[in-house]
Amino acid sequence: QTIAKSNQTKRWQEMDAAHHLHPFTTHHQLAKTGARVITHAKGVYLYDSEGRKLIDGMAGLWCVQVGYGREELAEAGYKALKELPYYNAFFQTTNPYTAELSQKLSEVTPKGIDRFFFANSGSEGNDSAVKIIRYFWNLQKKPNKKIFIARKKAYHGVTIAAASLSGLTSMHPQADLPMPGFVHIDCPYWYGEGGDMSPDEFGLKTARALEEKILELGADNVAAFVAEPVQGAGGLIIPPATYWGEINRICKKYDILLHVDEVICGFGRTGNWFGSQTYGIEPDMINMAKGLSSGYQPIAAVGLGGRVGDVIFNSDEEWSHGFTYSGHPVACAVALANLEVMQKEHLVEKAGGSTGAYFQKKLAELGDHPLVGETRGVGLLGAIELVKNKATREKYPSELDVGYRCRVHCFDNGLVMRAIGDTMVLSPPLVISESEIDEIFYLARKCIDLIA
Ligand code: PLP
Repeated sequence: QTIAKSNQTKRWQEMDAAHHLHPFTTHHQLAKTGARVITHAKGVYLYDSEGRKLIDGMAGLWCVQVGYGREELAEAGYKALKELPYYNAFFQTTNPYTAELSQKLSEVTPKGIDRFFFANSGSEGNDSAVKIIRYFWNLQKKPNKKIFIARKKAYHGVTIAAASLSGLTSMHPQADLPMPGFVHIDCPYWYGEGGDMSPDEFGLKTARALEEKILELGADNVAAFVAEPVQGAGGLIIPPATYWGEINRICKKYDILLHVDEVICGFGRTGNWFGSQTYGIEPDMINMAKGLSSGYQPIAAVGLGGRVGDVIFNSDEEWSHGFTYSGHPVACAVALANLEVMQKEHLVEKAGGSTGAYFQKKLAELGDHPLVGETRGVGLLGAIELVKNKATREKYPSELDVGYRCRVHCFDNGLVMRAIGDTMVLSPPLVISESEIDEIFYLARKCIDLIA
């Protein structure tokens, strides 16, 4: 049976290598090894085509909040597929699932956010947000307010405006980005860039970089500041306590919209429904995806606060934007079932309470490892910075690919842990148990030992 399985795996790998252009992949590297074929998943575990079991320390791509294989979500999707597999929300129509999801979101999103535009991915959500913000300022008769300020190391997606908002420089040259009108300021990455400052001082300094940039550009030319509560794909950058209060103040003072990208931080990840609640952020708009359906269906939503929503809603002209699948009934039905499971099982409360506290305790314990410069985290997010010298924070030379090697050891030992440079990242499903958390940290320590 093992041989039969291997042949099947080889077939899939060959088909894949010949015809599949993967996201974020160096294809000639992949061609050497062949893609790992994940065939099924249950709870917090993934299984590959060779029968190997992996504990998923990343909840897929930071999204499978309720864990894999949930009947409730499958049933809800099946029911919607039978009753209304598709109909659009264009031209004055809706459906029960989209209407109910909109209502439900208004109950759990940060105060004031109460209207929702649906998209299919976080990237589309951010591109839509850019258009909404431009339209808002046009309607406000302030057409010069067009520049978007985002941050270095930000990740907001890959479509043209979302990639321009992103501050990961590796994403830009291949597509000649960012587009004009998108600028980036320093982010509050204290461990790597804070120097001799305390975290609080550095938080204020990096927040005030926004004020400096607004003054340089002229407030009359700036449309919005766009940021994740905790920067995820940029290396899990946790903001110092002083950061967000100052950002709120600056946005208000200069009449700049605050668009918060909650694609990772939303739906319990930081211990509240939204990262904005954890950090006291006062957004005009938010973007959400991932945990909205636990990844079971592609769906995203841009949430509008009254200031923006009222202006768009009260406009006399048609809003010329929307996707064929905006408010897709099956995706909305699955998202609704997902939110019901999250509420019934108190997953947000657990991420902010017992489960999150246990996870953070185990994460902090790894800080004693000689190759670990810092651990940091919040809720069910954790980062482990691998360094050559703990005392000086000296990093390994990049050609050693220490993070990548650690990730490969993890895979080989049954753990999915992501490497962002030499920062190892964890973001497990919110349903994870204490013994499963123990398993993650046992394997993480073992694999860090292997790179020594
Ligand atoms: N925004 C943030 C904060 C993200 O982390 C991501 C994806 O990881 C996106 C946007 C893009 O979402 P998608 O991959 O669904 O387009």
